Amino acid sequence: MSSLRRISVHLPPTGALDYTIAVGSDILDTAVSELKSFLGTRRSMVLTDDHVHEIWGAAFVEKLRGSGMNIECASVPQGERSKSWECAQTVLAKMMSFSLNRDSGLIAVGGGVVGDLGGFAASVYMRGISCFQVPTTLLAQVDSCVGGKTAVDLPTAKNAVGTFHQPKAVYADTRFLNTLPDSALANGMAEVIKYGAIRDASILALLEDNTSKGLEGLSDLWPELVTRCLRVKSDVVAADEFDRGERMILNFGHTAGHALEVVTGFEMPHGEAVAFGMSTACRISESLGLIDSSVSERIDRLLDRFHLPQSLPEDASIEAVLECLPRDKKASDRKIRWVLLRDLGDAFVTDEVPRDRIVAALKRNTT
Ligand code: NAD
Ligand code: ZN
Repeated sequence: MSSLRRISVHLPPTGALDYTIAVGSDILDTAVSELKSFLGTRRSMVLTDDHVHEIWGAAFVEKLRGSGMNIECASVPQGERSKSWECAQTVLAKMMSFSLNRDSGLIAVGGGVVGDLGGFAASVYMRGISCFQVPTTLLAQVDSCVGGKTAVDLPTAKNAVGTFHQPKAVYADTRFLNTLPDSALANGMAEVIKYGAIRDASILALLEDNTSKGLEGLSDLWPELVTRCLRVKSDVVAADEFDRGERMILNFGHTAGHALEVVTGFEMPHGEAVAFGMSTACRISESLGLIDSSVSERIDRLLDRFHLPQSLPEDASIEAVLECLPRDKKASDRKIRWVLLRDLGDAFVTDEVPRDRIVAALKRNTT
């Protein structure tokens, strides 16, 4: 039985940018035949990284070519350093050397780095060509493949340059997750828990019921889990395509999490920092009387199952984290914006958290 599921992303007001996400555990043949109907024999390009190319990308390119498509392939070195201005330039030059034109498509096959870089290159090449996302990490499948945010980093700031460029279609084959190391799965799991906390508490129950032995219990459940997460993300994005309101709830755990990433010089994996940030946001919600301690404890227990931290590492001080909390650059009072919980599945954004509550929450989350 095919496990193919579909999620429609509806982008008001005109719906002209609507697209579909396909999720399943063996959907590459579907991806190939649909990409063929989108792109026909027009010259197009797969972008991947050297590691993904070796384990999945080269075979996928062969499948596309085998279907009669006219596919070129470019790959960048694996890792965040490829999400740079220089690398974007190299990719754009490759696109030019392959004679891609305005009818061509770019198919990004990889994690969030390839997705963000590929989306960016597609959005500026000849003022924008079609982009398709084939995410291969858990983080990319539940988060970065949807929503149309593209980016490259500058040496001084992550994601500093980018565009909004919605993909034409997304194909998330959960078999890709079989080759991911546990550390990368745990990193993505922080975002999975985030979706459960902010919007769909059934995600938390699914994890609680199936992960008493950690990640092992999830092997048959990936399509269901990824689908539930993507439904949350698509709904939130559909309500706020350009990130001016509702979409900010996706930043649950990312306020204190971002500060910790800065304090650790981005050495700490993003998921670990977000885990700490979610635990801190729960403690703040608790101290404001919004939730009771059982909610925070439930989140903490789940984070624990994937060895995700809830407290500050010993070498990071509360003062340093306070100093690095991101402030709203657009507002003149430069307040700190928090995403807090009223209940599991019910998040809201506020910039009215007294400093003493922040300090108290950070202190509680110190080893
Ligand atoms: P990544 O793309 O660097 O992938 C991590 C590593 O996993 C890489 O070494 C890659 O080669 C390897 N890999 C990828 N797929 C694999 C597979 N199936 N099997 C084995 N190894 C595999 O990192 P990531 O964690 O996927 O994404 C992080 C990036 O995503 C960051 O740059 C972040 O800013 C961005 N991001 C973007 C959005 C958005 O909305 N656009 C949202 C969240 C994160
Ligand atoms: Zn994140």
